Amino acid sequence: MSHELTAQPLWTGDYYNEGTGRSDIFDTLKEECGVFGVYGHQDAATLSYYGLHALQHRGEESAGICVTNGVQFNYHREMGLVKEVFDKDRLASLTGDMSIGHVRYSTSGDSRLTNAQPLIFKYRDGDLAIATNGNIVNAPLIRKELEQTGSIFQTTSDTEVVAHLIARSSKDFIEAVKDALRKIVGGFAFMIMTNDKLVIASDPNGLRPITMGRLGDAYIFASETCALETIGAELVRDIGPGELLILDRGGLREDRFTEPQRKALCAMEYIYFARPDSDLNGANLHSARKRMGRQMALESFIDADIVTGVPDSSLSAAIGYAEQTGIPYEMGLIKNKYTGRTFIQPSQELREQGVKMKLSAVRSVVSGKRVIMIDDSIVRGTTSRRIVNMLRDAGATEVHVLITSPPFKNPCFYGIDTPDRKELIASSKSIEEIRKEINADSLAFLSPKGLIKAVGGNSANEYKGGLCMACFDNDYPTKLDFGGEEKRSF
Ligand code: SF4
Repeated sequence: MSHELTAQPLWTGDYYNEGTGRSDIFDTLKEECGVFGVYGHQDAATLSYYGLHALQHRGEESAGICVTNGVQFNYHREMGLVKEVFDKDRLASLTGDMSIGHVRYSTSGDSRLTNAQPLIFKYRDGDLAIATNGNIVNAPLIRKELEQTGSIFQTTSDTEVVAHLIARSSKDFIEAVKDALRKIVGGFAFMIMTNDKLVIASDPNGLRPITMGRLGDAYIFASETCALETIGAELVRDIGPGELLILDRGGLREDRFTEPQRKALCAMEYIYFARPDSDLNGANLHSARKRMGRQMALESFIDADIVTGVPDSSLSAAIGYAEQTGIPYEMGLIKNKYTGRTFIQPSQELREQGVKMKLSAVRSVVSGKRVIMIDDSIVRGTTSRRIVNMLRDAGATEVHVLITSPPFKNPCFYGIDTPDRKELIASSKSIEEIRKEINADSLAFLSPKGLIKAVGGNSANEYKGGLCMACFDNDYPTKLDFGGEEKRSF
C-alpha cells in the first residue's frame, strides 16, 4: 500500500513538546485512553478536569488539558492522575472556552512525558492540538515514509503521524484532516483543535467509543457517557463510524471523512473497560454485564453455595448470575480501592504483586463454601490462579470459575494493550488445560453468541451485534497493514 504524501512543504514550525523522544519506528504504542472535549463554555478547563476525572479508569499514567481562548493555547500535561496533575491555580491559568483533554494508560514501557497528550504543535497555519484514544495499525509504515521525506518526529506516539500528515498537506485545514484520517487504518477517536476549530472524528468501524453531549449552549465530547453525567451534560448521541464533526463560529457541522464500514465497537469495552454507569451504543454497561451473567447461567449452571464477582468489572455479571440461578450473591472478594489497575502491567513481577495489593478474599464469607467466581477475562492466567488460590486459602471448598467473555486468544491492534499471542493462555491451551493451570474445580467461558445477545443495544441486529470480537475470533474489522501482505486475521 502506498501513501501519497505531499512532497512539500515540510514541517514549518517548532514543537512545544518537552524532550526529544525519538525512537525506533517499530516502537508502536498500544494504549487505552480517555478523551474529553469542550466547545463554547467559559469554564472549559474546569469541566475538562471533572470529565477527565470521570474517565480516570481509562488511563492512569498521564493527564493533560489544552485550552484555547481563540488566540493562543494554554496547556498543561504531566505524568500522574488527574487530581495530581491539576490543582486550582493550574486550572485557573488555563483560560478559554474550547478545550481537549486526555488521560493515558501506557504499558509498553514508554510512558514518557513526551507522549502525554494532548500533543501540541506549531505549524505554518498556527497551533494544533491532538488527543486520541486508540491505535493506528499502519502508523509505522506512514511514519517511515514521512521520515524518509524529511519529517522529524518528537514522540513515539502514533498520534504524531496524523499531525505530520495534516501539516504537510497544501489543502485547507478540514480537507487536510480528512485526507490524513483516510490514510490511517485502525481504531481511533480523535479530537483535533486549532485556535478557532474543534474537530471530532471516529474511525470507519467505530471501534473506540466517543459520544456527544450538550451543557447549555456548549458541546461536550467524551469517551464515555459517565463523563457527561459528571458535569451535568445531557447525552445527545454517540459519534458514528467515519463521522467528522466540526465546531467553529458557524456552529456544529456534521460531516464525514469516509463511508462507514462494518460497525465494530470494541467488545472489551462492554466486558471490562467502560464504567458500569456509562451507556455505549444504547446499552447501559451495568445492565449489559448483568445480562452476561444471566446468559452465563443459562449456558453454564453450577451447583454451588455462593456467587462472587471479581471487583469491580465483574460485580454486575455476578449479580446477574445470582438472579438467574437463585444462588446467593456474596462479597467474597474485596478490592483495595487505593491501588492501580492490574489488567496488564509492565512486568510479570509487578503484575503478580499487583494482585496481592489489589484484592482480598473475605474468609467469613467463603470459608466452607462452594464458590462460583465470576470474572471478565483470562489473559495470561496468572491473575486468575492467584485469585482462585486466595479463595482456597480463605477456606473455599470448591472454586468454579466462569468467564463472561469467550477465550481471549488474539492480540488487539486497536488501542488495547495486550501481550504477544504466545503469552495469551487461551491461544495455546484447551479449556481443561487452563482450568488445571488456574487451579479451578471447573471453568467455562461465555459463548460469542451469548455475549452478542447480552450486549444488545442499537446494533443488536448487525453483523456480530456491531461488535469487534477479533481478540476472541481472529476476525479483524480492518485490514492489518504492517507492510507486505494485508491481512484480516493474524
Ligand atoms: S481486538 Fe478485542 S480488545 Fe481489540 S478492539 Fe477488538 S474487541 Fe476490543
